Amino acid sequence: MSGQVFTRTNLPPRLLAMVGEDLVTGCWIWQGATSGSGRGGGYGRVKWLGVTQSVHRLVWQISGGRPLRKGEQLDHVCAARRCCNPAHLRPVFQKRNMKLAYARRRARLVAEAVS
Ligand SMILES: [Zn+2]
Repeated sequence: MSGQVFTRTNLPPRLLAMVGEDLVTGCWIWQGATSGSGRGGGYGRVKWLGVTQSVHRLVWQISGGRPLRKGEQLDHVCAARRCCNPAHLRPVFQKRNMKLAYARRRARLVAEAVS
């Protein structure tokens, strides 16, 4: 990645065919299978090189994102779990990620209570 912008069309064809772009948010929304609706659910899943893995992690790697350190995971800045736009992802340590998720959930509940 020598200063080149990674766009959706840079995705391998098999992934590109499964990813739709939200023109408002810029999210790359995975249209395929997800990890379900339970706790830890809602993330895109795909079988790639014989291994079922998280789509956003896979795209992060393909797009030249740096390797994650121990205890790090990818946080969705956009809060859309099915999004795999590497520009919407950033590595955070797990504890911080949980805090962020909590803050977002709270903000949403407050917003719902007001409307
Ligand atoms: Zn997004």
